[in-house]
Amino acid sequence: MIWKRVDNSMMNIGIDAGGTLIKVACKKNDSLEFNKLPVSQLEHAASWINGLDRADICVTGGKAALLKSLLKNKAAEIVEFTATSNGVRYLLEKNAISEKAYILTNVGTGTSIHYVENSREQRIGGTGVGGGTIMGLSRLLTGLTDYEAIVSLSAKGSRDRIDLKVSHIYEGAVPPIPGDLTASNFANVLSLDSIDQLTKEELLACVIGLVGETVATTSVLAAGQCGVSTIIFIGSSFIGNDLLKEVVQSYTKLRGASPIFLENGEYCGAIGACLQLSGH
Ligand code: ADP
Ligand code: MG
Repeated sequence: MIWKRVDNSMMNIGIDAGGTLIKVACKKNDSLEFNKLPVSQLEHAASWINGLDRADICVTGGKAALLKSLLKNKAAEIVEFTATSNGVRYLLEKNAISEKAYILTNVGTGTSIHYVENSREQRIGGTGVGGGTIMGLSRLLTGLTDYEAIVSLSAKGSRDRIDLKVSHIYEGAVPPIPGDLTASNFANVLSLDSIDQLTKEELLACVIGLVGETVATTSVLAAGQCGVSTIIFIGSSFIGNDLLKEVVQSYTKLRGASPIFLENGEYCGAIGACLQLSGH
């Protein structure tokens, strides 16, 4: 059970119920506490909330309506993208980062890309390649389903035998773009005599590479389109996942943009929902 016990003084609770995880931000006496649990435990979350008698609740995310239907008292609701960008602004201020215009990329189950300027937020687009892709492809390729196991094994894998780099194609010649860029994810396996020797570590590292590079590339293109160079990356896909951060960071920098990873960034939606209750 991940819920911390709370006493009975008044609390504001923001809940972001997404495709994979339920993120919770509790505000009591000006301090925020965070928790998360799998979306399969939505009913459990609802009965926890139903058991609190001194709490104001605001929900957001794709499963917000479903969660609301399980609550015995009325709860407020806020549009997910508004909640998320308000949460980002809160964390930026808290970390004394004075960015005013930036791309916001939320790598959740899928990936959503936004342009934020002061308090204006506009969804630019997204890609279905996201944290859910890490989980799904990892399962297909290795049979593993546990997030922590996938992330820790991926950190030990080399991508050399599986991914085709630009330098592999331009063998012996000077490539027109950095040779270290991936020319084609997974395409190097076509030159292997046998794929039986590929390890789970290698396969998982390449899944992370595919997702990280796709997320970074689409974000950098959005930044160019909007005329900004800062990209803020949030979402639970970065939790404990230094390899994903590293891939996203290096690819973003290589393409001339500046990445920022926010601590507790996965809770931005929940924070925005929570702040809504105190009129922020
Ligand atoms: P959503 O809002 O769509 O639920 P999140 O921002 O919570 O998305 O990100 C979900 C992704 O986070 C998963 O697809 C997975 O890659 C990663 N993740 C991090 N921690 C876990 C976990 N404990 N269980 C499952 N997935 C996790
Ligand atoms: Mg989400």
